[in-house]
Amino acid sequence: MGRLRRSRAHHARRDVHRASRTRVRTKDLDQIQLIDLDPKNRANLEAQPIDFDTPGLAQHYCVECAKYYETDHALQSHWKSKVHKRRCKQLREPAYTIEEAERAAGLGRETKKV
Ligand SMILES: [Zn+2]
Repeated sequence: MGRLRRSRAHHARRDVHRASRTRVRTKDLDQIQLIDLDPKNRANLEAQPIDFDTPGLAQHYCVECAKYYETDHALQSHWKSKVHKRRCKQLREPAYTIEEAERAAGLGRETKKV
């Protein structure tokens, strides 16, 4: 049997290979939610030391998106953008945890109580 061709497998992304490249990969949502959005960690991320390897010398960082921006203006306009707002909405939902996975498999604490 031949390989069946699926349509719309790439969700209108022109370059699928680029999306899977690790170079452009940012942190996962649960990492941001559980580690970066902690007020102590957030303050550290927003006031990073000057780093010549990161864009904008690591001075303009968006914590929610885990991305560096070149200028303050770029960061300000990013905060107003759809991409950032969508990301914030995703972050407001609870992260997928190990407990949730265990609960789904019937191994969680809730099932033991019953
Ligand atoms: Zn952002």
